[in-house]
Amino acid sequence: MSAALGGLAHRVPGLAPLVARMGEVAPCPSCRGRLLVREKPGLNEPLTLCPICGGNPGPALSPEELLVTLRAEDLLLSPPHEGWASQVLLDAGAPVPEGQAMDFARHFRVDPTKVRFVPAADADDPLAGEWTRPPEPGAE
Ligand SMILES: [Zn+2]
Repeated sequence: MSAALGGLAHRVPGLAPLVARMGEVAPCPSCRGRLLVREKPGLNEPLTLCPICGGNPGPALSPEELLVTLRAEDLLLSPPHEGWASQVLLDAGAPVPEGQAMDFARHFRVDPTKVRFVPAADADDPLAGEWTRPPEPGAE
């Protein structure tokens, strides 16, 4: 592991084992990690997105591993944020996608319809209980 990656791994818990696992994954057998393949053999044939990996030759990531990679990317892409010029250089000023509440709920495996906490009747722990849906109007 390079010194730069070692320093980054120190700041992003879980990065070192993820990088080690990625190093063990064989590249896509079709494009060998190049994302594109030629439709037919020949240098003048057009390139097309790899039909095997769809242009994403890396390993499948769990939600936790995705967060680790996003944290690492954030550190790597976080030069001093000095205004809009860096964003224009990075993505030509593309609009930032707005997060949708249901996407976050799904990501964190939360049922957003369960907004009522019912404490456990016989528990010493005040946090013991479960989240439930509120009763229908007139049911209580
Ligand atoms: Zn591929």
